[in-house]
Parts: sequence; structure tokens; C-alpha cells
Amino acid sequence: MLDEVIQLDKKYYLNTFGDRLPVCFEKGEGMKLFDDKGNTYYDFLGGIAVNALGHGHKDFINALKNQLDKVVHTSSLYYIENQAKLAQKLVENTCAEKAFFANSGAEANEGAFKLAKIYYYKKGLDKYEIITLDKSFHGRTLATVAATGQEKYQKPYRPLTPGFKQVEPNNFKAIEDAVTDKTAAIMIELIQGESGVHPMDKEYVEKLRKLCDEKDIILIFDEVQTGMGRTGYLFAHQMYGVEPDIFTSAKALGGGIPIGAVCAGKKVASAFEPGDHGTTFGGNPFATAAGLAVFDIFEKEHLVENAGKMGKYFKEKLTELQNKYSDKITDVRNAGLLIGIQLEDSIAKTVFNKLFENKMLTSLCGGNTIRIAPPLIIKETDIDLFINTLSSILEEL
Ligand SMILES: *Cc1c(COP(=O)(O)O)cnc(C)c1O
Repeated sequence: MLDEVIQLDKKYYLNTFGDRLPVCFEKGEGMKLFDDKGNTYYDFLGGIAVNALGHGHKDFINALKNQLDKVVHTSSLYYIENQAKLAQKLVENTCAEKAFFANSGAEANEGAFKLAKIYYYKKGLDKYEIITLDKSFHGRTLATVAATGQEKYQKPYRPLTPGFKQVEPNNFKAIEDAVTDKTAAIMIELIQGESGVHPMDKEYVEKLRKLCDEKDIILIFDEVQTGMGRTGYLFAHQMYGVEPDIFTSAKALGGGIPIGAVCAGKKVASAFEPGDHGTTFGGNPFATAAGLAVFDIFEKEHLVENAGKMGKYFKEKLTELQNKYSDKITDVRNAGLLIGIQLEDSIAKTVFNKLFENKMLTSLCGGNTIRIAPPLIIKETDIDLFINTLSSILEEL
């Protein structure tokens, strides 16, 4: 089957992903994915921080099937029970006052930009600039590309959507200097995921909150990757103890069903009024049933707590490996189950490939860092398996 799929892909699919890893999965169960040849892989990437419940979770599947039997889509013209209830979940468990559902992370971020801009527009203030960070990642739409501080994503699309500028991360002076009386918002990832798992300092984030309060600027956290339990907290800003004016969520929110959310705090929650923003698919009965099921299973199985515990265990084991192979592992960074293993530049790609050969799914990001973002159902025995595999790979190098 794989060869046929590769042929079809090369012939019919726009070549945005180039040569993918040579595998095509047919089925999944918990931490495992099975290909068409009967091979078992261990999923330490969770579909890039999406599959928080692992694969084929029975209660999740049943909730989806139930909803399929009832109704999939109705439209935003009518009230939607699951949509209202999922918004309630997000609001009751965070600093948000209201939520809005989109279909992806990028689209949620677009909603956040629009909300920040319209807030000042309605006050009659000429504030529209948005400051983001170097090495950030906010999505692939035109505005989110303008927000993403990485040359490779921006270069072919110039001129970019105006109003965005980037400054060095974790450098308060840089952001303070970049603020003008036109600054509407500052948007950051608390832990930069795509560029290699780089957490922001707590003090830096606290100072940003203060700066935004003093200068009347909207503080936005892009929690598309760090949200929904990944860090051992439902959202990473709860770990930092700093409340944003807006945060966005997506990846794990629907457990694999596409959904994103704009979560608005007190300051901005009433800036959107009828007609100011909208969506056809966003928050439809099926997608929001998925989100409700995720919340439900998180609570029943204490998965946010498990993410914190397993993240700690993973970090301990990786630190032991780092001490043993200090010439090969140069750094280990994590927040719960968002983990970056930084390797000596010359071996990073080889280690990544060998992990794949050994049926361990991870991703290589920031050039030299193995990113791990497993399902939150992960157990110590899964982590031991990964550590043993990585250990023997490093031993042989
Ligand atoms: C993945 C990601 C996005 C983009 O999400 P899409 O669903 O691919 O549009 C945005 N921000 C962050 C921090 C992400 O990790």
C-alpha cells in the first residue's frame, strides 16, 4: 500500500511536504500506531501535540459516534448546545470570560488579532501594531506568517501583512523599546514549540503583563501547542501565574478533530459584536462534541495531573542520559510533556532517523532538537522504553 500512496501523493498532492517519512498508518491504539505491514510504532509526538488522549480512546470514539448519529453540522445561524457547553468549560477553568471557536490554530490566532484591533477601533484609538517574538510560530495564514518570527516562512510572501514586528525573545528591553503609541497587542508563546521548545522566563512574562497594563496593550498568549494539559496545567499561563487578555488554543482541544478557540478575558470580551467576526464550520456540533469529550476524559482520567507527573519523570530520566552522554545531549528543556532534547548539531539528524528506524515517533525542530509531545495518557513504562532506545542509539554513535 505504502508505495501506491507515495505515487498518488507525488502525482496529485501539492508538494508542500516534500518527502515525508516513509510510513502510512492504518490504525492506532493508545500510544501505538500500526502501519500496513504490521509494524508497531510508539507515538511520542502525538500528531504534533494533538492526540492528547492517544489513539482510539474508547470513550472518545463513543462520544463522536453518538454525535454522528444525532447531527454533524447546523450552522452559526442557530444555537448549538455543545458549542455553548464547551465555551462554558473553557471559561470556568481559566481566566477567560468568553470563547469563540475556529477550525485551527492559525485561524484562532487570526481571531485574536482581529479582537485586539477592533477593541481599539471601537475606542476610537489608532492602535494596530502587534509585536511578536523571533523564532516564534503562529501559523501559515498570511497574518500569522507576518506574526511568525522566522525568515524561512516569511520570505516568499512579501510584502507581508503590515503592522507586525518581531523582537528577541526573553529580552524585556527589546520589547519595551519596540512598543509605540500604536501598539495594540503583544503576542507570545510561553514555550516556543516549533523552534525547539524554548520556555520564556517567568520574570519576563510578569514584566510583559505589567508593561501591557501600564501602556494599555493587549497581552495575547498563543497556547495552541502549550494548552490543554500539555504542561501539567490546563493552560501554560496557569503555570506562570500570569493572566493574558486573550489566549488561543487548538491542537489538543479536539483530541484530533479540528477545532481552535479564541479565549477572551474581561478587558476585551465584549469588543466583538454581531457581524464583527464569524465562521461557517467553527464550533459545529461535531467538533465541539469532540472538545467536550476531551474535557470529560481529562477529568475522569486525571490526565492534566498525569502530564505533570510524567513530564517530571521524563525530565529526570533524560537528565540522567544527559549526564551520561554529555558530549551528545547538550540540553534538555521541558514544561510537563512538551520536551526538547537538544543534541550536538552533527548528530541530531542521525539520532532522529535512528529513533524512527526503531519505531519511535518524534520530530526534529530548531535544527538540533528532538521534540517530544506524547499523548497525556503516557505511562512510566512507555517512557522507559523510549529512554532505553535513545540510550542505545547514543551508545552506538
Ligand atoms: C501549531 C501551531 C499553530 C498553528 O496551528 P494550525 O492548526 O496548524 O493552524 C499556531 N501556533 C502555535 C504555537 C502552534 O504550535
